[in-house]
Order: sequence, then C-alpha cells, then structure tokens
Amino acid sequence: MEQDDFDIRARSAGEADAELERALRPERFEAFSGQDKVVDNLRVFVAAARMRGEALDHILLYGPPGLGKTTLAGIISNELGVGFKVTSGPVLDKPGDLAGILTSLEPNDVLFIDEIHRLSRVVEEYLYSAMEDYRIDIMIDKGPGARSVQLSLNPFTLVGATTRSGLLTSPLRARFGINCHLEYYDHRVLRRIILRSASLLRVECSVEAADEIAMRSRGTPRIANALLRRVRDFAQVKGEGHIDPAIARYALEALNIDRYGLDEVDNKILHTIIQKFRGGPVGLSTIATALGEDPGTIEEVYEPYLIKEGFLKRTPRGREVTPLAFEHLGSQRPDRTLGLFG
Ligand code: ADP
Repeated sequence: MEQDDFDIRARSAGEADAELERALRPERFEAFSGQDKVVDNLRVFVAAARMRGEALDHILLYGPPGLGKTTLAGIISNELGVGFKVTSGPVLDKPGDLAGILTSLEPNDVLFIDEIHRLSRVVEEYLYSAMEDYRIDIMIDKGPGARSVQLSLNPFTLVGATTRSGLLTSPLRARFGINCHLEYYDHRVLRRIILRSASLLRVECSVEAADEIAMRSRGTPRIANALLRRVRDFAQVKGEGHIDPAIARYALEALNIDRYGLDEVDNKILHTIIQKFRGGPVGLSTIATALGEDPGTIEEVYEPYLIKEGFLKRTPRGREVTPLAFEHLGSQRPDRTLGLFG
C-alpha cells in the first residue's frame, strides 16, 4: 500500500494522464460515441471481412487531433478479433524498420500508422507493394554483391491516420480502399462521452455539469476527457467530490478555459486577422506568415473548428472573421466606411 502511494507520487503527471487516457479509450464500436456515418460503414466492412475470413481493406482515417483515430483503429482490430500493432510515420525512418514490423504480422492483423503523412519517401515506396500485393523486396548485402530478395507477407490491414490529408501523396492515397473523415463532435455527443468517462473514473457528474465541460472542449473528446480530469481535481479539493455545474464553472474559470473552448492558436488566428488585417478578408498565406505557422496546418487543423463554430468565413477574397469573433475578443469592427475605398 505504502509502496503504491510512493509509486503514484513518483509518476509524472503526464504519465498518469496518458494512463488515464488509455483507461478511457473505448474498445468496441458500442462504446464509441458519435461519428455515426463512419462507424456504421466500418461495422459493415468489418462484418463482411469477418464473414469472408479475409483481411479488411486498408483504411485511411483523417481529421484533427484527438477525435478518435487511434481509438477507432484499436476498435477495428478488436472487432475483427485480430492482433494490433502501432507505429507512426516519423518513427519509421528506415525501410528495415518497416520490413521488421510487416514480417511480424499474423494473418489479417491490423497495423496502425499514425501521422502517416510524415513517412519518408523511401519507406512510403516500400509500403506500396506491401499494401497492394502483400510483398516486399529487401536488399541483401551492399556493393557488388547486393541483391534484392522478395518476401511474402501475411495479408494485413493498414490503418493510416493523418491530421493533414493534403500532404498525402496520390499513390499512397490511392492504395486505401476505405477513406473516413472524422468530424468535430457536437455538445450532446461530448456530454455522453464525459458522462461515460466520469463513470469509469468513479466520480459523480451531473448532466448539466457535463454540458458545461462539453461546451468548452473544442468539439474534441481528448480535450473533454482532460478537462473532466482537471474539474475532478477541483471537485475533490474545493468541493464535495462530485461534479455539479457550480464546481465545473468554478474550475473552468480558474483554469482559464476559453468560454467557447478555443485554444491559444485559435485565439491567435482571430486576433491576428482582427488586429493586423482589420478583420479581413486576408489570404491564408499572409495569415500564416504573420503567425509564423504552416498554412496547411492552419487550413486543416485550426480553421475547420473556427468555421464550424461561426468565428471565421472563407470567402473568394480570403479569410474573414465574423461579428462573433469581434464580440468574443472584445474588439470593435473597424468602421469600413472610413477605409481607403470608403
Ligand atoms: P486521435 O488518434 O484522433 O488523436 P484518440 O483516438 O487518441 O485521437 O482519442 C483521444 C481520446 O479521446 C481517447 O483516449 C479516447 O478516450 C477519447 N475518444 C476519442 N473519440 C471518442 C469517442 N468517439 N467516444 C469516446 N471517447 C473517445
């Protein structure tokens, strides 16, 4: 017992959080809330592959971070009743690393490659024949004695995940038979996820309190779960252990969580467009340069949420913030009639 206490204290908060995140991860389709269309389709494909006893077609999951790509990949392997191996684009830097993983797969296993847009070109090219024909060519020896040997692989399913589908090369994209786009979650679904997590964490949480947390979670289950854990800390220390709307509001204010769930980069984007470009319209690359960010990341990772929540518009002349953004940041829209073209 004492040893346990010591171990818990010794572990860093980050590790403990990662462990909790794993504990809250749904393992079956049934426990996975939202993304109804994607899940309905995947259920059919999984059932069909099981009936035929074949490997499921390769699947590409794309969408912003924290929406459940890794979770879904794990669920797919559980539902297929096969093994699950996880790696990521930046980790696989040599073809040999990939060959090692591919040759260790059992028939019909699922191989999950996170951040697949970050695979090096050579590794990616290796993957083509593996995906298409379950074969790889490996080089043996160097110099004049070098020769290539063909290895057969067990049939497998590659599940690739990316936040930046725009960076995927077309030959790689073409090799995925199933493409799934994950969307931001609405409040009702996030509320359900929060209530499920609260019950797994054995903390009482009212529906209204879950709603408060859901509204500030940026449409993202990972953020919802992280906020729930922080609010739980407040409930234990400042309250009576259960989460009600008052303690949820108190905690979220104390944590400085944006009322609309926007994060620092979201707010910086809106701020920059308002302060430097009078609210827009302004081109994406100009915004990116002003922020020192990559235009593709702004476009694929940040903008979708700002647009969905009505803070930003894409117009033919560029990006423009909406009155809601001015209101949120407490700024006044500049009087356009006094502008150059007044
Ligand atoms: P991604 O791989 O897209 O970055 P993850 O699959 O790692 O996201 O999800 C982050 C966390 O959010 C997981 O630990 C999981 O508990 C939770 N989560 C994601 N999607 C759902 C969902 N639809 N229902 C319940 N929990 C979810």
